[in-house]
Amino acid sequence: MRYRTLPHGGEQIGVIGLGSSVVGQQRERDIMETVRTAVELGVNYFDLAAGHGACFPAYGKALADCRKDVYLQIHFGADYTTGEYGWTTDLEAIKRSIGWQLEKLKTDYIDFGFIHCLDERSDVEAYEKSGALQYLLDMAAQGAVRHIGLSSHNPDTVHRVLDMGIVDMLMFSINPMYDYGQGEYAMGSDGERQALYRRCEAEGVGIAVMKPFNAGQLLDARRSPFQTALTPAQCIQYALDKPGVLTVLPGAANLDELRRNLAWLDASAEERDYSVIASLTPEESRGRCVYCNHCAPCPAGLNVGLINKYYDLAAAGDPLAAEHYKTLAKTAADCVGCGHCDSRCPFHVEQSARMKEIANYFS
Ligand code: SF4
Ligand code: SF4
Repeated sequence: MRYRTLPHGGEQIGVIGLGSSVVGQQRERDIMETVRTAVELGVNYFDLAAGHGACFPAYGKALADCRKDVYLQIHFGADYTTGEYGWTTDLEAIKRSIGWQLEKLKTDYIDFGFIHCLDERSDVEAYEKSGALQYLLDMAAQGAVRHIGLSSHNPDTVHRVLDMGIVDMLMFSINPMYDYGQGEYAMGSDGERQALYRRCEAEGVGIAVMKPFNAGQLLDARRSPFQTALTPAQCIQYALDKPGVLTVLPGAANLDELRRNLAWLDASAEERDYSVIASLTPEESRGRCVYCNHCAPCPAGLNVGLINKYYDLAAAGDPLAAEHYKTLAKTAADCVGCGHCDSRCPFHVEQSARMKEIANYFS
């Protein structure tokens, strides 16, 4: 496993975690086997916006002897009264559900307590008005919740909550479909979505990625808007290239799916290369670097994707990005203008010209 650091807290979080929305009514021992194997393979970050309440007792048993080694995202607003997942902003329902979840998970603390799935500004108001937000803040003040998070699909709603200054982690739906305006949760334009990722990076808010495969649609050539099947490794790499992203949380209904997801760790650069998505680049995003490094290798040894990422972040006002840029062994000033990247870039970035712009900016 590889790990990235949570800016507010310093926790080391595995870049591939485990989502639980696909957990239905699998047998308890099968859920436990998947979770145990994930831990053995280095997964330490688990989202618990589960598809079914059966998840909780199984996770509680599977993690009983390693609870302190893992991080759990628990959602204040996910209700399992009926056994199935339900969404609520009702305070009493949330209290009851959190108490039940903690009991089944055999734990008395929550690593990441999430404001759950708010996609409209009116949802935020309802969440505040019901007292749910205050309940979460009180648990954080008591130390029972160690970090506050937010899950949402809508950049506008996320900005509203980020403005409160209470969130350390955002769970957001990121995949090339949504960023390119395709699908139910393609909320906000590509430019607005990229600006949100940059804001998170600049403010030290980590992003945990949900729906990286859009429930398998991207892995199916017949249903993918790219008219080709992407692999899990390509989707995971796409998400990990976005500013602010710490971890990607694909679900795994069984051991095969878990191993399929973790195959990213051993995949080659070619296997992770997702430049095939360029065929659907929206007009507003043509010529914008997506940090994919499909243009590598640069004969002068520049990491083109990383240089562009630091530049975009710095230009958006992130002072740390400028510091990171200065530590690079090769910067835009080392570009020899050979044009190799221009000819290789499927996203129509005029990179050699951009390198001059970047060198000027940082000088
Ligand atoms: S210039 Fe093009 S190919 Fe190179 S990292 Fe940027 S988007 Fe990818
Ligand atoms: S133009 Fe500059 S950044 Fe692009 S491949 Fe050549 S040396 Fe590298």
